[in-house]
Formats: sequence, C-alpha cells, structure tokens
Amino acid sequence: LLRVDHVDKSYGEERVLRDVSFEMERQDVEVIVGPSGSGKSTMLRCVNRLTEIDDGEIYLDGEEIHDLDQNDLRRRVGMVFQDFNLFAHRTARGNITLGLEEVLGKSHEEATRVAEDYLERVGLADQADSYPAELSGGQQQRVGIARALAMEPELLLFDEPTSALDPELIGEVLDVMHDLAEEGMTMLCVTHEMDFARSVASTLTVLDDGQIVERGPPEQLFENPEHERTRAFLGDLT
Ligand code: ATP
Ligand code: MG
Repeated sequence: LLRVDHVDKSYGEERVLRDVSFEMERQDVEVIVGPSGSGKSTMLRCVNRLTEIDDGEIYLDGEEIHDLDQNDLRRRVGMVFQDFNLFAHRTARGNITLGLEEVLGKSHEEATRVAEDYLERVGLADQADSYPAELSGGQQQRVGIARALAMEPELLLFDEPTSALDPELIGEVLDVMHDLAEEGMTMLCVTHEMDFARSVASTLTVLDDGQIVERGPPEQLFENPEHERTRAFLGDLT
C-alpha cells in the first residue's frame, strides 16, 4: 500500500531524513520510535505532503504521491495530530461534517449522519454538540480520530496521538487505536507507548538521526535487537 523509496529531506544544512526506505502492506500497523529530532514527524508529513521531500519517491498503492492530486492524497491518507488540531469554533459533529461536505461533497444531512456514526464508534455519541473546549483531551483526540476515519482513508498517520494527554486519558485513545488495528485499518504511528507497540504493531521501526537503524517485528526488536542503538533506545523507554 505504501512504499517509501530512498527518501531524503533536509532543512537548510540539516539532513533530517537520510535514504529512508520501507514498505507497508494493507492492514499493517507500523510503529516508528526514535529520539526527539530524529525525523519521525517529518517522515509522516512527507507521506501526505505536508512536507515535500528532496529526493526519492513515495508510492501509495503503486502511484507516486506527487502525481496525485493533493486533496485526493490527503483524503486517502488521514492524519491524527499530537495537539488534536480541532476547529475550536465547531462542535465535535461539525469538525467531522466539514470535510465530508467540502471535500467529499456530501449533503448536510448525509454528513451529519456519517459524523454521528463515527462519533458513536469512538464512544462519543453523547458529545456531538460539544465544542472542543468542553471536551477532555482524550475526548478531543477521539474526535480527531473520528474526523480522520470519516474520510475513509486507506492509511492513517498518527503523530504522537497520546503525548499531549494526561496519563489517565491515554488508555481511551489507545483503546480506539487498538480496535482500529483489529478492524484492519492500515496505520503508521509515531508513539512512545511501548505496550501498544509490543501488542499491536506488526512492524517496529527505530529511526535515529534521520536513518532507519532497525526495523522488524516488535518481539524481535525488544527481545533480540541487532543494534546497540535499538537496545539503548527501547531500554530507555521500557
Ligand atoms: P520529536 O520526537 O521531538 O517530535 P521528531 O523525531 O518528530 O521529534 P522532526 O519534527 O521530524 O523530529 O524534526 C527533525 C529535525 O528537523 C529537527 O532537528 C527539527 O528541528 C527539524 N525540523 C523539523 N521541521 C522543520 C521545519 N519546518 N523547518 C526547519 N527545521 C525543521
Ligand atoms: Mg515529532
């Protein structure tokens, strides 16, 4: 479904991604870990073209993403952000209907129905009329996930979706992500939640200084890492 092929990205003199290559199949859950500044967010942002790459290619279902219409790409590749990125002046429902109406061209009635379905799916059927400021961080993030899901993406990107949350709210978001994985959603996740990585990820990638240090099944990286950097990094987190 996704093929990242020899991607390079620099900001000025700083090489943030160096010859990064990996592939994901449909229904894979890929977790990327790595130290701060290692290029994790940049990697995700390159996949939906929030950031443009300098070199290499990225293919979505066989098509190079730069050959795709940007709106089409963004619909097919959803993103969930660390700080939720909800529209403050729209209700939970309104956050979801916006894209359905403006991008997918659904009628207001249809968009409302779909939005309420997705809110129910993330356990927020009762909060459709609430504004973000009236919701907890965990609830806001679940709206963010529902909003992304409503566009029926082929791939969902998560950039530290629980990092802004109080510890007691992390579980409800991870539960939703866990359910999505079980339902077969293809997910590319940056997260420091190692229990999630261990139990849900099909593949774990360690990124350091813009390079993939090691990549493989999570059991293998936890139990039997090939690289000292992997051992050091995963050891620090667990
Ligand atoms: P964190 O764990 O702190 O979120 P990260 O692994 O997501 O880190 P990135 O945000 O991808 O790291 O940043 C990688 C490097 O690129 C950092 O050194 C950062 O300062 C730099 N960088 C990121 N975005 C920009 C930008 N828009 N302009 C200039 N430099 C940037
Ligand atoms: Mg980041």
